[in-house]
Amino acid sequence: MNEFDIIQHFCSFQTIKRSDVILGSGDDCAIITVPPTQQVAITMDTLIAGVHFPLNTSAYDIGYKSLAVNLSDLAAMGAEPAWVTFALTAPHIEKSWLEELACGFFNLATAYNVQLIGGDLTRGPLSITLQAQGLITKGKALTRSGAKVGDLIYVSGTLGDAALALEYLQKSINIKLSNREYLLTKLNRPQPQVNLAKKLQGIATAAIDISDGLAADLSHILEKSQVGAIVDIQQLPLSPALRESVSLEKAIYLALNGGDDYELCFTIPPSQKALLETILAEENTPAYCIGQVTHSMHLALEFNGTPYKGLIHGYQHF
Ligand SMILES: [Mg+2]
Repeated sequence: MNEFDIIQHFCSFQTIKRSDVILGSGDDCAIITVPPTQQVAITMDTLIAGVHFPLNTSAYDIGYKSLAVNLSDLAAMGAEPAWVTFALTAPHIEKSWLEELACGFFNLATAYNVQLIGGDLTRGPLSITLQAQGLITKGKALTRSGAKVGDLIYVSGTLGDAALALEYLQKSINIKLSNREYLLTKLNRPQPQVNLAKKLQGIATAAIDISDGLAADLSHILEKSQVGAIVDIQQLPLSPALRESVSLEKAIYLALNGGDDYELCFTIPPSQKALLETILAEENTPAYCIGQVTHSMHLALEFNGTPYKGLIHGYQHF
């Protein structure tokens, strides 16, 4: 397949056709229409083979995850995903690999009504860069800077699962088969919390998606909001698979420091707690209150009412 065959074959897997896309792939630029009441949220993520996913990751999972991590960033702002551009660099491209990649990517794109509107193809070490754009009602974005003293801190889903799956792949640690499957799915096919996030507009005061570990990502909210927090370690949501596979201390370490969970961390005023519970029930999505925003300007961890001394560090690229 030559360059144009590859692009055409990849795009043939697309099923979504949005009415706001005036011109999609195939010209020098794409053209989209934005309703006057809306703003566009834009995010970009690069996934490099051997850095952001293990070298033996399936093409389906690479395609899926490259989009999922970008949708997670849109979710963190409360935006509704709409369009995406896709840059693929690969040493060579086999037809079956390309088709698997397309299936992983477009299955998720279809689920969230996202249209691919352009891209780029180059030869080199395997990496994928996506730019995703979403719509958000003017002035309603969930930023990192709105947390107020007294707000409750919530996280969705469970934490630490993806980090344990990565350890399993890299160090072959012993994990029983049924747990292994669950943990690897959490690593390779994270569920972006798009639907929950949209409903948090007007309720949450701040939000972030957890890509580099709860401690690091919550710290970004605290820094931008100029506040501190107290987190009760015993309230951290740990999956049964994580608890069965490692010690409690290790599970806590992974929940605080492990990356790749793509769950949401958000703050709400205590007065919104009942409304949040209703939304969580409607969305059938669990989220747990893990602590509260304080004046202190730092992140304090407590276990059983005493300071927790576990190690904290988030994932850093440099
Ligand atoms: Mg993010």
